[in-house]
Order: sequence, then structure tokens, then C-alpha cells
Amino acid sequence: MSDSNSKDVILIGAGVLSTTFGSFLKDLAPDWNIKLFERLEKPAIESSNERNNAGTGHAALCELNYTVEQKDGSIDIEKAKEINEQFEISKQFWSYLVKTNQIQNPQEFIRPLPHISFVQGERNINFLKRRFEALSPLSMFKGIEYTEDHEKLKEWIPLMMDGRNPEEKVAASKIDEGTDVNFGELTRKMAKNLNEHDNAEIFYKHEVQDFNRRKDGKWEVKVKDLNTKKVETYITDYVFIGAGGHAIPLLQKTGIPESKHLGGFPISGAFLVCNNPKVVAEHEAKVYGKEPPGTPPMTVPHLDRRYIQDENTLLFGPFAAIGPKFLKNGSNLDLFKSLNTSNVGTMLASAFKNFPLVKYSIQEVLAKKEDRMKELRRFVPNAKDEDWDIHIAGKRVQVIKDTKEHGRGYIQFGTEVVNSKDHSVIALLGESPGASTSVSVALEVLEKNFPEYIKEWDGKIKEMIPSYGQSLIEDYALLKEIRQATGNELDLINK
Ligand SMILES: Cc1cc2nc3c(=O)[nH]c(=O)nc-3n(C[C@H](O)[C@H](O)[C@H](O)COP(=O)(O)OP(=O)(O)OC[C@H]3O[C@@H](n4cnc5c(N)ncnc54)[C@H](O)[C@@H]3O)c2cc1C
Repeated sequence: MSDSNSKDVILIGAGVLSTTFGSFLKDLAPDWNIKLFERLEKPAIESSNERNNAGTGHAALCELNYTVEQKDGSIDIEKAKEINEQFEISKQFWSYLVKTNQIQNPQEFIRPLPHISFVQGERNINFLKRRFEALSPLSMFKGIEYTEDHEKLKEWIPLMMDGRNPEEKVAASKIDEGTDVNFGELTRKMAKNLNEHDNAEIFYKHEVQDFNRRKDGKWEVKVKDLNTKKVETYITDYVFIGAGGHAIPLLQKTGIPESKHLGGFPISGAFLVCNNPKVVAEHEAKVYGKEPPGTPPMTVPHLDRRYIQDENTLLFGPFAAIGPKFLKNGSNLDLFKSLNTSNVGTMLASAFKNFPLVKYSIQEVLAKKEDRMKELRRFVPNAKDEDWDIHIAGKRVQVIKDTKEHGRGYIQFGTEVVNSKDHSVIALLGESPGASTSVSVALEVLEKNFPEYIKEWDGKIKEMIPSYGQSLIEDYALLKEIRQATGNELDLINK
């Protein structure tokens, strides 16, 4: 039971988003009662698991989709600046958790790793060069290097240059300050920390099944204990839906107007994974290429060194695979059940509008291992079949909705916060750069949905995120100071 100042909050799902939001809330409002329900037996089993995502700390250092070529030939770098700042914000929050001893051993979840962009052919080389020229004067991207020289490239990416035609036109840019993030480990650490808080409790093997709005504005949340099969009703002031692929179906169950004309289309990611230590030792970077024309950011091919506990691993992908489940551990009826009279037109309009994407997805689904190895050999010319295995990673549920600006069936890329008008229901929908920007997403949730508390919480938020309220894009001295501090705290410097 809560006293008059305290509020009850229910968080759904123990992935990186709910555990991040819970970690904020427990320090901002220590008297509030937090209950987190997770249908599986542990935290971070779905998309936040280290084997279900690529672990890129997205800071726009190497991802070419954040620097878009304009019709006049210029490169728009605004998105890159925004993504870079958001990752600096994430690192500040993780540093705060380490500094206050709420989580320990940062090297278990974040490691420094150069981020490289790699392109082939005149047109793409020309683009990369102009991107480099646009980014290099900015303090944010200080230290970026560019080369078309094969000898230099052999130093940066030996595995990718071995066996390559010396006449082939290729180029790359590199920034050493990139990272590989084990979002699974980070989530487990935050979940443990949240569970240790006096006013918070995590219930595993508990599935949220339905909602009922009461006359007093509170919500009744029906939760099934999957061990005992008993269903209990919990009453709460706020519902936070951080249920990954299931966020859309759960939002629909609340019946709030914001859940209408909105659908989701599930796409699984698959990677080729290499565990041969000899091959792995030849590649110490995350290397992002250019996405096929007309396809979304999640199709950008990349070759990554991963730090997953003590394993030596490379991954290449992602390749898309389509199936009806909204979660890896979901049901084959998920897609079917999410269709209703308000969104079936939205979904159909989307299929017509996005034909290149549909075509690409069908090609991807039909692709065999040999087709995928062919893709890989554009990156690793000497790749051997026996060194690489297919691994099915996590699900992304692409949000499809009607908008005033884009009309019916618009595919929304990126993470989106949806909330009821009275702010009692908050849902996080969407996909990449999800995990990397989880802290900015949590801040957006706080600012948008708790306006009456934000002034009171301002000082504490500044303690958590020292740059809060200031621009790291405009203020280089501040950026430098913050990077130095988080680099030290997270053990990212001189490794
Ligand atoms: C292939 C792939 C590669 C990616 N690569 C990157 C990357 O390199 N960098 C990056 O930053 N991001 C990446 N992402 C995105 C990132 O993984 C996600 O944005 C992030 O993990 C989403 O976290 P989440 O907490 O919302 O969801 P999840 O981690 O999926 O957690 C949701 C949880 O909710 C639980 N749940 C669902 N329904 C219920 C219910 N009814 N009751 C109780 N519990 C429920 C689920 O069991 C699950 O544990 C990638 C994603 C994919 C799929």
C-alpha cells in the first residue's frame, strides 16, 4: 500500500528499457513502489540479450545511415550529432551507476573497440570522403581518419584485406573511440540493482495479460503467475510497457486511443558467427558497410568483433528472417492477434507503399547459407564455410502507423515513446538504436510524462547525467570533460 505522496508503478518486461527506466525511478522517487513483471525466468533473454543484438554502442561513428546524402550532393550530419550525443548521455548514466556502486565491473558490459565505415566502388567512396570532410571539423568526431590506401587498410582491417584484389577500389574511415556493449550483462546488473531496492520487486515467470481502467484513473493489471497458473490483479498509478516485441499487443489491450491505427511487423535478425580463434584474432573492430538501396537501417551489413564474456567471436549480418512471432519466445499467433479493424488498413497500405522493402525481405527469407557466405565474402574475401554458422538473433517489431505527415501505413524507424493523454500508460515501441539510446529514451519518458515532478528531480538528474540541460553538440569543453570522466569511470581509456 502506498502513502499519499507515493505512487505505484508497474514495469512490464526485464529488458534494457524497463530496467533503465526502473533504475532512474528508484533514485528519483525512492518512496514509490515499483513492481516489474517478466514472463521469462530471467532478465535479458529477448532482444537485450548479448547474443540477440549486435552490441554496437551506436554513436554514429561508423553507421552510414545517420549521415544522409542530400539531393544537392551535401551530407546531412544532424542525425549523427544527435545519436552521438545520446550515446554520451547513456555513458554518463552507466558511469553514475558504477560510481555509486550500484553496478560493478564495467568492463563486463562495455569495451573500447574502433568503429570503421567501409565502402566499395567509386560512388560510395565519393560519399564516404564527403562524409569524412563533413564530420572531421566537428569536435564530436575528432580523430576520425580516412584512407583509400590498401596498405593502411591492411593495418586497420587485416581480415577484410586478405585475399582482396589489389586493384579493387575501396575506402574506409575510422574512429578509435567506439565501443562494443554487452547489453545483456548491463541489463542483468541493472535488474539485480533494482531488485535490491526496498520499494522495488521483480517477479519472474509472471506474464501481464490484460488491463482495466478504473473510475479513479488507476489501472488494474492482470498478471498470470506462470508457475502456479494463478491470475492476480495489481492496482497501479502508472503502467510502463517495456515489453519489446509484445509492446504493441499490450498497448492495444489498454484500449487507449493512442493504440489505434498502429500495427507491428516482426523481423528476426540472423547473423553469421565465427568462433575460430585464428580468424577472430585478425579482426579488432566494428566495420559497417552501406545498406542496399531502399532498405531500412537494420539491413546495413557489418562485421563485428564481440566481447561476450570470455568468448572470441565475430559476427556478420544482420540478415532478415520473417515469422509471425513478436518475441523469440512468442507465439505463432502474435501477428494475427495484433490485427484488428483499426489497423488492418494501415498494415495493407504499408505493404503497397514499401514494395522494395517487401521484395528485399522475401529475398532475404529465401536466402540460403551459401547466399549469405557470398555477402560475407564482400567483407572477408577468404571466408571459409566451415568457420561460420548461422545464429538467429532477436526480433524487431517494425512499427507501422497512420500519420498526418506521411499518410497511411507509414513505417516508423527508431524507438518511439507512446503515452496516454493523462500519462498513466507509457509504451516503448520500435527498434534500433534502442539499447544504445535507452537512457535518452528514459529521460524523454520522464520529461514527457512526469512534468509535475521534473523540477523536483532536476538536481538528481544532473547528478546522474552531468550534461543534462546542456548541449554536448555546442559545448566542446563540456564534451571533452564528460568523455574524460566517463572514459575513466567505465574503464574505456588506455586499454
Ligand atoms: C538483430 C538485432 C540487432 C540489434 N543490434 C543492436 C545494436 O547493435 N545496438 C543497439 O543499441 N541496439 C541493437 N538492437 C536493438 C536492441 O536490442 C533493442 O532495442 C533493445 O534490446 C530493446 O530492449 P527492450 O527492453 O525494449 O526489449 P527486450 O529486451 O525484448 O525485453 C522485453 C521483455 O519483455 C518481456 N515481456 C514481453 N511481454 C510480456 C508480458 N506480457 N508480461 C511480462 N513480460 C513480458 C519479454 O519476455 C522480454 O524479456 C538490435 C536488435 C536486434 C533484433
